[in-house]
Amino acid sequence: MPDIAAALATAKQALRSCTDSHDLEAQLLLSAVLDCDRTHLIAHAEDRLASAQLEQLQNLLARRCRGEPLAYILGWREFYGLRLSVNDAVLIPRPETELLVDLALEHLPQQLAAAPRQPPPATVLDLGTGSGAIAISIARHRPDVQVMATDLSTTALQLARMNAASHALENISFHAGSWYDALPETCAKIDMIISNPPYVAAQDVHLLQGDCRHEPSMALTPGDDDLACYRSIITGATDYLLSGGLLLLEHGHDQRQRLLALLQETCWESVQCHDDISGIARVIMAKYNPDHSR
Ligand code: GLN
Repeated sequence: MPDIAAALATAKQALRSCTDSHDLEAQLLLSAVLDCDRTHLIAHAEDRLASAQLEQLQNLLARRCRGEPLAYILGWREFYGLRLSVNDAVLIPRPETELLVDLALEHLPQQLAAAPRQPPPATVLDLGTGSGAIAISIARHRPDVQVMATDLSTTALQLARMNAASHALENISFHAGSWYDALPETCAKIDMIISNPPYVAAQDVHLLQGDCRHEPSMALTPGDDDLACYRSIITGATDYLLSGGLLLLEHGHDQRQRLLALLQETCWESVQCHDDISGIARVIMAKYNPDHSR
């Protein structure tokens, strides 16, 4: 049987034709087989694999080379420093979506430590939470904030609940249903609504490439009208946001101008646009002002 160093070299070679990150992916797959972290691979390079381990590695390499996303093979992805379970019922959290969490954390009202009377906690609503990545990252960094997360898919919600439990979060609740229909009838007004909705047009070739081929299409595309979800979210937000509350939306590279136009139709002000880490138009943020007239 090969030792760890040799198995790693074989894995890198096998992955060379199917991914640019062959070094890292080889380490992650071998670590999964050996149930160890990546440093163990270096410290124990001469340890030999058992034949069942070698067979399992070959099996995982074959799956990856057939195009299955690494995150689904491993069963997890890191997002905002947190390890989250993922499966093919949810979109794989993307690094560019961390911008949405950065902005949410930056703009959520701060709790006044020495307030004479404790105000009710600020509330955040994450629409279409999938694995729970956005909601869980916010809940984790702001234990004083109450987060609500919704999804149409009950399978996705099951996973999101599990992810919240694995990070021992108690300030987060999950609700099944379409956008605002998921919320309880007695829902109080909300400080911030955040979403990374499906926004890729059904005919976009991007859907036929890479990980997207294996991700749930309901998480990626709303159909022919790429703005369909934004229309529902923006319209409904005015019923649920507090005056001065914020709406934060992730969007595709060619949607900024059209979203600006949508927001201009209703009661929004202080609109901010943000580019992601690759310099691509990615997030739009607006403040709800019910008295705003145009
Ligand atoms: N950013 C993702 C992609 O381009 C799509 C995410 C989404 O539709 N919300 O693959």
